[in-house]
Amino acid sequence: MNHSQKAEIFNKDEAKVNWHDKALWYVREKRDASAHKVQGWEYLRELGSGIKANVLSNLDDYLIQFESNAKKNGVQVHWASNAEEHNNIVNTILSQHNAKKVVKSKSMLTEECHLNPYLEERGIEVIDTDLGERIVQLAEEPPSHIVLPAIHKTKEEVDILFQEHLGTIPSQGNPEYLVGEARKHLREKFIGADAAITGVNFAIADTGGFVVCTNEGNADMGVHLAKVHIACMGIEKIIPQEKHLGVFLRLLARSATGQPITTYSSHFNKPDEGKELHIVIVDNGRTEQLSREDFRASLHCIRCGACMNTCPIYRRSGGHSYDYTIPGPIGSILSPGKDLKKHSSLPFASTLCGSCSNVCPVKINIHEQLYKWRQIIVKEEKQPLVKKSILKIAGKVLSSPKLYSFSGKSARAALKYLPKFMIYNKLNAWGKARDLPEVKNENFDEWYKKRNKNG
Ligand code: SF4
Repeated sequence: MNHSQKAEIFNKDEAKVNWHDKALWYVREKRDASAHKVQGWEYLRELGSGIKANVLSNLDDYLIQFESNAKKNGVQVHWASNAEEHNNIVNTILSQHNAKKVVKSKSMLTEECHLNPYLEERGIEVIDTDLGERIVQLAEEPPSHIVLPAIHKTKEEVDILFQEHLGTIPSQGNPEYLVGEARKHLREKFIGADAAITGVNFAIADTGGFVVCTNEGNADMGVHLAKVHIACMGIEKIIPQEKHLGVFLRLLARSATGQPITTYSSHFNKPDEGKELHIVIVDNGRTEQLSREDFRASLHCIRCGACMNTCPIYRRSGGHSYDYTIPGPIGSILSPGKDLKKHSSLPFASTLCGSCSNVCPVKINIHEQLYKWRQIIVKEEKQPLVKKSILKIAGKVLSSPKLYSFSGKSARAALKYLPKFMIYNKLNAWGKARDLPEVKNENFDEWYKKRNKNG
């Protein structure tokens, strides 16, 4: 199924769609209020974007520098060119320690590599410890948002899920009760874990250290209790120096949730005494994206989710309709690079309004990249005949003012007088779930001329 077919499933529950839309818009408004409080916010975005561009231009040097400094700190560094290698490395480290129980804090990279099923098939229990992630894990679903993984679930649905899996009592979706029960459940998992896996938000080349941002402290809890810590990072997570953290930490939290800073920004530099710290540095298609000049800026992404919260299509189609680890506008420019055929509908899941680019803290030209992918896809992928014919006709009409005016007049008359079944039928996919607005008697040109004539 393509994006619009999957979105149709989500759209069946209209009340939920409205609620999902409002919930994400609320986060967008919090982001606006928080960003506006920072003097020089636009300058900060510019700075973030510039640092990332510098990183991408010198990525090989920074990565080698990071590796060398991390090794000096006693960290064991591994390199993986793809998901399979990444999973294999993680599994080997766990096997060396006979680790059978693993706690994992949020990491989109491990989602991208499908690490959980890989380890579970090999007899290792993996518990996602971020509350939202644990909810979707119990529901056997992928996350639908990169910062708010269970945003598609109501608290009443979580209540039922917890009753089924954690043996809680019905609470009519009482958030305090549910969070309390989740905490008790996760404490047990933290205490019994043999190893902890985390993601990496920022890896600092000149110190070899890295930072993990969470709001729940779950990464710290896992790492402090387990004997082995494995941190998995994409090659683009590098920043040159520690002083650059100030730029990104300020941008990230405000853009993600409107908070001035994430509750925990945890710095990891070296293993604790008697423990092991491993870092797995992963490519998995990133260097290929780097080589695509039009799309390389997509690697600036700091995974704040702001482009999702603002996107009218994402808000009303839900994250699962994208069928890719990273949904929303940024996912729609990353995914075609992975599998053009499979994800060819995603760059079209946008109004190209540009709101995503306007909120992006690292100034990725998301809507322009979406448009660029569309141009590639129409050339490389077979398009439906109806779409091709309609676009051919539209091209002729739009390039001739006379034809345009005549077509407008005819369409207005048709919409006014034709019976509804002739307008809203199987051929009109757009009209399946929407009505056109009321038809006016005149077009803009006529209205404008009349207005000028009347002064
Ligand atoms: S593309 Fe920009 S707005 Fe979207 S998640 Fe990445 S950093 Fe945030």
